Amino acid sequence: MALIQLMPDHLANKIAAGEVVERPASVVKELVENSIDAGSGWVEIELHEAGLQRIRITDNGNGMEEEDAKKAFFRHATSKIKDENDLFHVRTLGFRGEALASIAAVSRLTMQTSQGQSAGTKIELEGGKIIHEDKSDARQGTDIIVDELFFNTPARLKYMKTIHTELGHVTDLLNRMALAHPEVKFVCKHNDKELFRTNGRGDVLQVAAKIYGMNVARKMVPIKAETKDFKVSGYICKPEVYRAQRSYISTIINGRYIRNIALNKAILQGYHTLLPIGKYPIVVLNIEMDPILVDVNVHPAKLEVRFSKEKELFDLLEATIKDTFRKQTLIPEVEHKQ
Ligand code: ADP
Ligand code: MG
Repeated sequence: MALIQLMPDHLANKIAAGEVVERPASVVKELVENSIDAGSGWVEIELHEAGLQRIRITDNGNGMEEEDAKKAFFRHATSKIKDENDLFHVRTLGFRGEALASIAAVSRLTMQTSQGQSAGTKIELEGGKIIHEDKSDARQGTDIIVDELFFNTPARLKYMKTIHTELGHVTDLLNRMALAHPEVKFVCKHNDKELFRTNGRGDVLQVAAKIYGMNVARKMVPIKAETKDFKVSGYICKPEVYRAQRSYISTIINGRYIRNIALNKAILQGYHTLLPIGKYPIVVLNIEMDPILVDVNVHPAKLEVRFSKEKELFDLLEATIKDTFRKQTLIPEVEHKQ
C-alpha cells in the first residue's frame, strides 16, 4: 500500500512558517516590505507587547481587489514574478509569495484592503484558514492585523525572548527600513506610545538624525561613487564617533537592507586605522546595481545575498571611504565650520 501523501496546504504553510516567521520582527519585516512594494507613501506600524500580542501595519499603497486579496494567502502566490527570467531581474523586495501564507498559518490575521474606488475586502483567518469574509470601507490601501502570533505553535512561542529583546529586534529592523526608504513616511508605535516617525521627504540624513540623534548626524559625511556597475551613496560617520557593535553599519542593496561580511570588511578597511581597535563606525550605504549582479534567493528572509562582482564592489567601497576622509582632512577646519 502506498504510504506517501501530499500535505494539506495549511500544514505545509505551518511548516514553512518555521523558516520565514522566526519572531515578531520577521512579521514586521515581511509586511512592511509588502507595503513598500505596493508603492506606499506612508506606512504605520503599531505593536503591542513587542508584536507578540498584536502587530498592525497600515499603508496607503495600491491595495488589492477581492480575488487577489484571497489569493494572496495561498502559498507561492505572488504578483511580483511570472517566470524564471523575472527571478534574475527582481526589483521588488518580495517575490517568493510565502510571507502572507506563512504569517497567517501561525496567527489570527485580519486584512482589509481596497483600491480606493469602491468598498474593499475584509478577510479574517485563523491558523491559515479563512473564517470570515466581508466588505471593508473604501480607504485606499491595506491594513493587516496579526494577533496572537504563534498561538498554535507553542514551542515557538515558548522560545520567544523577553518583550524588551523582541522589541529590540523590531526597532533595529524598522530603523534600517526607514534608512533604506527615506521616501516613505514611517510612523512606529509601541503600546500606544510613538517610537519614531520619519517625514518621507527622501533625505537619508534626516532619517539618520531621527534614529541616531542630531549629534551623530552632524558628524556624518556624504559619500558618493559611480562605476559602470555600481552607484554608491549615503553617509559615513567621522571616525571620532564610533560604537562598540557593528550593528550601526547599514548596507542597502537596491532598497533592501542586507548583511554581508565582505562588505562590512570593505567598510572597515576603508576606515583603516582611523578607528580604535574593536570599534565600529556608523554607516548608511545605499548601493544600486543591476539586479542581475545580485542573487537574493539564497536566504528565506533575503538577508544574505551573493554578488557576482564582489571583489569590484569591495574595492570600490574601500577606496571611496578612504578618498572621502582624505578629502575631508584637506578641507581646512575654518572653511569647514564656515
Ligand atoms: P510576495 O511579497 O513575495 O509576493 P507575499 O505573501 O508577501 O508574497 O504577498 C503576496 C501578494 O499579496 C503580493 O505579491 C502582493 O500582490 C499582495 N500584497 C501583499 N501585501 C500587500 C499590500 N500591503 N498592498 C498590496 N498588495 C499586497
Ligand atoms: Mg512579501
